[in-house]
Amino acid sequence: MGLIMNRVKLWRIAGSIWRGYGAGSQQLGSVLQGTVLRGSGLAMQIRLTLREMFTHGRLFKFLAIVAGLLPFSASVCAARGEVPTQSDVGTGYDWPSYGRAYAQNHYSPLAEITSSNVFRLGLAWWFDIPGVVLAQSEPLEVNNTLYFVTGYSVVRAVDATTGSLLWSYDPHVYEVAGRKMQFLWGVRGLAFRNNKIFVGTHDGRLLALDAKSGAKVWSVSTTQPGDLRIISGPPLVFGSKVMIGHGFSEAGPLRGYVTAYDAETGRKVWRFFTVPGDLHRGFENKAMEMAARSWTGNQLKYGGGGAVWNAMTYDSELNRVYIGTSNGTPTNADERSPGGGDNLFLASIVALDADKGSYLWHYQTNPRETWDYDAATDIELARLTIDGVSHRVLMQASKNGFFYVVDRDSGKLLSAENFVRVTWATKVDLESGRPVEVSGARDPSNQDKIWPSGDGAHSWAPMAFNHNTGLVYIPALDAGAPGKCDDRSIVVNGFICWGVSTLIAWNPARKAASWKVRLPGVRSGGVATTAGNLVFQGRADGKFVAYAADTGRELWSFDAAVGITGAPITYEAAGHQYVSIVAGYGGAASELDPRWDARRESRRVLTFALDGKAELPPAMRKHTITPVSDPTFKTDAAGEAHGSLSFAEHCQMCHGSSGVAGGAAPDLRESPAILSAEAFRSIVKEGRLLSSGMPRFRQLTEAELESLRQYLRSRAKSLSTSDG
Ligand code: CA
Repeated sequence: MGLIMNRVKLWRIAGSIWRGYGAGSQQLGSVLQGTVLRGSGLAMQIRLTLREMFTHGRLFKFLAIVAGLLPFSASVCAARGEVPTQSDVGTGYDWPSYGRAYAQNHYSPLAEITSSNVFRLGLAWWFDIPGVVLAQSEPLEVNNTLYFVTGYSVVRAVDATTGSLLWSYDPHVYEVAGRKMQFLWGVRGLAFRNNKIFVGTHDGRLLALDAKSGAKVWSVSTTQPGDLRIISGPPLVFGSKVMIGHGFSEAGPLRGYVTAYDAETGRKVWRFFTVPGDLHRGFENKAMEMAARSWTGNQLKYGGGGAVWNAMTYDSELNRVYIGTSNGTPTNADERSPGGGDNLFLASIVALDADKGSYLWHYQTNPRETWDYDAATDIELARLTIDGVSHRVLMQASKNGFFYVVDRDSGKLLSAENFVRVTWATKVDLESGRPVEVSGARDPSNQDKIWPSGDGAHSWAPMAFNHNTGLVYIPALDAGAPGKCDDRSIVVNGFICWGVSTLIAWNPARKAASWKVRLPGVRSGGVATTAGNLVFQGRADGKFVAYAADTGRELWSFDAAVGITGAPITYEAAGHQYVSIVAGYGGAASELDPRWDARRESRRVLTFALDGKAELPPAMRKHTITPVSDPTFKTDAAGEAHGSLSFAEHCQMCHGSSGVAGGAAPDLRESPAILSAEAFRSIVKEGRLLSSGMPRFRQLTEAELESLRQYLRSRAKSLSTSDG
C-alpha cells in the first residue's frame, strides 16, 4: 500500500509541476521541449517516464528453386487467406524479418509443434546474455543461424540448433550517443537481406553487418548532428532497399522522417518527412504542401514531431510501404497548432511508393492529436472479407484503443471498433474516418480520467495474425492513467493501481473479441502464432506461455525466471521446429515488476523444441532489497523533495518509480554509491559506468546531485525502517 501511495503522490507532484510551469520551458534550454499537454519540459520528462515507459539463409540460398515455386506457393497462400509475400515463398522454415514475412503477421506455417503435442515442448538450449542490459527484441533466424540484438544495439549470431556463439558486434553506442544515452529504449529487431544483417543503433546509425562473420559492411548516420533522434525500431527490407525511421518526439522538437538506403551500399535513395518543415522555406513535395494547410502557428520551424519509431510494413502486392507516425511536439495540440488544424501527418498511417518514397494516401487515427496516441503500433497486412466483400487490408491495434482495418488499395477506413475500454471517443465515423470525441476529452483537467492512458492500449510489442483462426492476438493494456483508481482498477503485484493487462484474440472480420486472457503484471511481451493452432507469449511474471489459438486455453508454460517483454519467433532447423524468445526486460520497463532485480536476473535467449531436455541453472532466489546502512543520514525535507523530482526526471525511467527498481536497472537503495558524494558524482555526472550502460548526466549541478543523493538515502532509510 505504501508503494501505491508513493506513486499516487508522485503523480500529484508531477501534476502540480505541470500546472505550475506553464509554458516557461526555457529552463531546459529549449523553446519547445517543455510545452506538452500539461506543462513544462520537466513535467514532460516526468510524464514521459511515467506514462511512456510502458509505452519497436534458406530463403535466399535457393533462389532458383524459389523462383520456380513462386506461382504454386502464391496460390497456396491465397487459398489460406494469407498475403503472398516474398518471405512467404518457398519454405516458411525461417523467420528472416521482423514479423517473419512482409505481411508482418508474426505467423509461421510450421506445424510440427501443435496444440496437441505442445505439452512435450522443452528447453533445447539457452544463451546467457552478458551484462545488465535491456533485452526485449524479436530475433531473426535464417539458414540455421539465430540473430538477436540487446543492450546498446549489440548484435549476436548463434547456432540455431545449439545456441553456440558464432559472432557478436558491438557498435559502441555509449561512445557516440552523448545525451541520447539518457533516452534509452533498446532496439526491438533486426532485418536481413543477401547475407547482411541490418541494425539501427540507438544513437542513430544504420549498419549492415556480414551475416556470416559479423564484420561491418557499411554504416550510415541516419540522424542529424546534435539532434536527439534515437532508433528503437527494426529496419525494414524491401526490394533492394533497407529503410529506417527514428524516435522520439518527446525528447524535444524534431521533424519526423523515414529514409530508404540501398541495401548493398548504404547509399541514400529517398527520404520522406512526415510533417512539413518551416513554412517559410518551401516544401519538398505536394504532400508537404497539403499537410502544411493543416497546421497553424509557427511551431513547425522547430519540428512538429511525427517520428516513425516503430511501425513500418512493406506491401509486396502493391509495392508500397506503410509507416505509422507518432504524436506531435508539443503534445498539447493547442500549443502546437493554436489556430486549429488536423496537423498532418501526425498520428497517421501513411502509404508511400516503395521505389520513390512518394506519398500515396494517409489515414489519420487522431486528427489534432493531443493524448499521446501515436499511430506507431505494428501494421499487419491481410486479406479479409468484410460485410461480404474481399479487401486487401492493413490492421492496427492502436494506442488509442481502436482496432483499425484500412483498405490498402484506397486508404479508406473499413472498420474501427474499440478492443479495450475507450472514454475519449464514442466511436469512429466510418464515412469521414474521424473519431467522435466526447465532450471534454481535450480538457487538460480530464486527462487523468481518460481510457486508454497515454501508455496506450497496445504499444510496440507486436500482435500476431493467424490465417487459420482468422484471429489477431493483441498484447493489450486496458487501463486509464495511473494514480486514479476506480472500480475497474486493480492493484498489480501490490505495486500500482492500474487496469488490466490482457491477451485479446480479436476477430477483425466480426469486429469483436473471440477470447481474452487476463495477464499478470502491467505489460507483457509480443506475440507469435503458428499453423499448429498455437499462440506464444512471454509475460511480465517470467512465464513463457503457449495458448490454443482457437480457444485461448493455456496449454504449456515455462518459467524463464525473468520478466519477458520481447517477442517470440519459430523456425525450422536441422529438420525440427524450434521456438525462441529473448527473455528479459526492455527499455522503459522499470515499473514492470519489482520482483526482478537487474543485477541478479539472467537475461537469456531461450529456445524450445519437442522433447527438449535442457535445464536452466537454479533460478535466482526471491530477491529482497537490502538498503545501505547510513548512520550519518539526516532528514532534509526540502532536499528530498527536490531530489524526488530530479529522480523522476532523470533516473526513474530505468531505476524505477520512487526508487523501487523493476528489473531494468539496479535498485539504488542498496547501492553503496549513494553513501559517497564523490562516488555518486563520478558515476552520475562523470560517466564512470558509461560502458556498462549508465548514462552521463553532465548537466546536473552539484546541488542537484546532492539532492538526488539525499532523496535516495531517504528512500533507503524508509525501507530499512519499514517492514519492506
Ligand atoms: Ca508518443
